Amino acid sequence: MRYDVIVVGAGPAGSTAAREAAAHGLATLLLDKATFPRDKPCGGGLTVRTQRLIPFSLAPVAERPIHGMRVTLRQGRGITRDFPEPMAHLAQRARLDAFLVARATAAGTVLREGTAVKAVERYPDRVVVRAGGEAFEGRTLVAADGANGRTAALAGMAGERWLVVGLEGNVTPSAGIPDEWANRLGLDVGDHPGGYAWIFPKGDHLNVGVAVWQPLGPTLRSRLDRVARFYGVAPTELWGVRGHHLPLRRPGAPLADGNVLTVGDAAGLLDPFTLEGIYAAVWSGRAAARHLAAFVAGEAPDLTGYAAEVEGELAPELDLARRVHDVFHAMPALTVGVIWGAPPVWRFCSRLMRGERSYADVTRRLGPFAVGLDLISDATRAVPALRRRAGLDALADPPPPERFLRRGKTAGA
Ligand SMILES: Cc1cc2nc3c(=O)[nH]c(=O)nc-3n(C[C@H](O)[C@H](O)[C@H](O)COP(=O)(O)OP(=O)(O)OC[C@H]3O[C@@H](n4cnc5c(N)ncnc54)[C@H](O)[C@@H]3O)c2cc1C
Repeated sequence: MRYDVIVVGAGPAGSTAAREAAAHGLATLLLDKATFPRDKPCGGGLTVRTQRLIPFSLAPVAERPIHGMRVTLRQGRGITRDFPEPMAHLAQRARLDAFLVARATAAGTVLREGTAVKAVERYPDRVVVRAGGEAFEGRTLVAADGANGRTAALAGMAGERWLVVGLEGNVTPSAGIPDEWANRLGLDVGDHPGGYAWIFPKGDHLNVGVAVWQPLGPTLRSRLDRVARFYGVAPTELWGVRGHHLPLRRPGAPLADGNVLTVGDAAGLLDPFTLEGIYAAVWSGRAAARHLAAFVAGEAPDLTGYAAEVEGELAPELDLARRVHDVFHAMPALTVGVIWGAPPVWRFCSRLMRGERSYADVTRRLGPFAVGLDLISDATRAVPALRRRAGLDALADPPPPERFLRRGKTAGA
C-alpha cells in the first residue's frame, strides 16, 4: 500500500501529526521503534497552553493540577508563588503518549510498533522507508523521532542544534506527596548552566531532575544527588534514574524540503528558556498536518509552507525565549527577584504557561525598554566575562549575538 503520509516516531509530535493528518482524510502510517506504552525521560509538565492545542480532554492522563512554584537560588533561599488557576498538569509520559497514540489510531492512522526505521530513500513524488525488515512507501514523510532521531538526516535534512542534557530520577515518599509539592513545581536555578533543576509531583511519586548544556553531562550525576539532598531526598532512594538530550534548534536549520518535514524534538523546537518541548511538539504536529493535507490535495507544490509557518510564528518565540534565557543565566538572582518579587511579572509568567500571553507580549510590554533585553542578551553572548558567567562558555560553538553586536552570519544560516 502507498500511504499519503508516513510519520516516524509516535511521541506527542508524531501522534499529533498522524491524528490530524488522518482526520484530514489522509492515509497515514505511524511507525515507532518502541511498543506502547513506552516511557520517555521527561518531567511530564503539560502546560495549559499545550492542553489548549489538543481538541479533547487529557483528564484521563493529567495527574495533578499545578497552581504554583517554589523557585530557589543555588539550593538556597527561595520564593513561593501561587496562581488562582492551574498553569499546568503533570503527566507520566508512558500514559500520556499511549493515550495520544490511541487517539491517532482512532482517527484512522495505521500504527506499526516495534519498527525501527533504518533507511530512507527519497524520490520527487514519493519516499520509501525501510523499517523492521519491510519497505513502506508514502507520498510524504514526517520526521518525528525525537532528540536522537536520525530520520531527517537519513532524508538528507540534517540541521545543527545546541544540545542540553537532562538526568532525572523518581522517589515515592512513604507518607505520600508532601503538601508543599502537592500542587506546586519546584525549580532550582542559578548554577546549572543552560538549564535548571526541578522537583515535579506526579500521582504517587516525585520526579527530581537537572538539565545542563551537553558538554557538562559528566557533572549531571553529582548535580542530581546534590539537588535531591536539597529537596530532602536521599540519592540512594531515587529509582528510574535516566538521561536524555534536549535539542535546541539553530536559526536557519531545515524544517521542510520537498515532501519531507520535521516536527517536535527532531526539529529542535524546544523552548530554550523553560525547556518545555511538548507544546512545540503538538504545535508543530498540528501545523504539519495542515500542510501535508494541502500538499496531498495538490493545493501546495511542496511542504515549504510548513517551514514558513514555523519560521513566522514559532521561531520568533523561541528566539525571544533564547534571549530571556541569556539574561536569566547572566543574572539569575536579579531575574528571580524581578519575576517573583513583582506580582504583575509573576502573573504574566503564569499566563504565559496558560497560553494567554506570549514571549512577544514581553517585548510589547517592555516597549522602548525591550532594546535592553536585546542588549543584555547580545552582551552575554559577546563579552567573555558575561559568557562565562552565563555558562555559555560550556559550548564549543555558543549562540552568536543576534542584534547589536552581530559579526558575520547567524549560526546555521
Ligand atoms: C529530562 C527531561 C525532562 C523534560 N521535561 C519536560 C516537561 O516537563 N515538559 C515538557 O513540555 N517537555 C519536557 N521535556 C522535553 C520533552 O520530553 C520533549 O520535548 C518531547 O518528548 C518531544 O516530543 P517528540 O514527539 O518530538 O519526541 P519524543 O517524545 O522523543 O518521541 C520520539 C519517538 O520516536 C521514536 N523513534 C526514535 N527513533 C526511531 C526510529 N529510528 N524508528 C522509529 N521510531 C523511532 C521513539 O521511540 C519515540 O517514541 C523534557 C525532556 C527531558 C530530557
